[in-house]
Amino acid sequence: MRIAIDGPAAAGKTTLARSLAEALGFLFVPTGAMYRAAALACKRGVALGDLDLQVREGGRILLQGEDVTDLLSSPGLDDLSSQVAVESRVRKRLVEIQRAIAAGGDVVMEGRDIGTVVLPDAELKIYLWATEEERARRRHGEQGGDYAEILAGIRRRDERDSTRPDSPLREAADAVVVDTTSRSPAEVLELVLTLVEKARAHPTR
Ligand code: C5P
Repeated sequence: MRIAIDGPAAAGKTTLARSLAEALGFLFVPTGAMYRAAALACKRGVALGDLDLQVREGGRILLQGEDVTDLLSSPGLDDLSSQVAVESRVRKRLVEIQRAIAAGGDVVMEGRDIGTVVLPDAELKIYLWATEEERARRRHGEQGGDYAEILAGIRRRDERDSTRPDSPLREAADAVVVDTTSRSPAEVLELVLTLVEKARAHPTR
């Protein structure tokens, strides 16, 4: 089974995808972290043709064989990753890797274009949403810093991600929209687990 989770910045995609994958025993594939690693590779001068990205248990990311997971949430990579993600050459390479991973077994894959481009035949597609203010409040709670700056950063990234020509952030026509604004992570997980049960009981693909 392939579960696609898309949505704007800081909507809770990673939290949901990780806990869902744990609950189901599926591989958790954080494609946002893959774009962040591609941005780090770019900073380190790794040529795209040489890029070696691997996803391990628990969504850990290896870049050229090195586990860089703990470096990827640095705020400096927020903006740089969304700039790198505009490049079609980068997207093509990452989508290839993502599809190869999904071909290997059950996955929960989160990102911006999973239900629309990477896995258009996914058995379940979720579009996770929350108001901009709520998303900024959550990020602020996790990272600290200046709330107004975080909100502006989220707006800038959403704008860039949804207006780029290649694979813009969009909800797939057959995605279930889940508004997390006033739901806890546990409530969101419970709701999505019921959607997984429904998709298993009544497969449409
Ligand atoms: O989800 P996260 O904030 O870690 O993603 C970082 C950036 O990577 C996003 O702002 C977006 O530009 C890019 N991205 C993408 N397609 C994906 C996942 C992430 O373009 N499937």
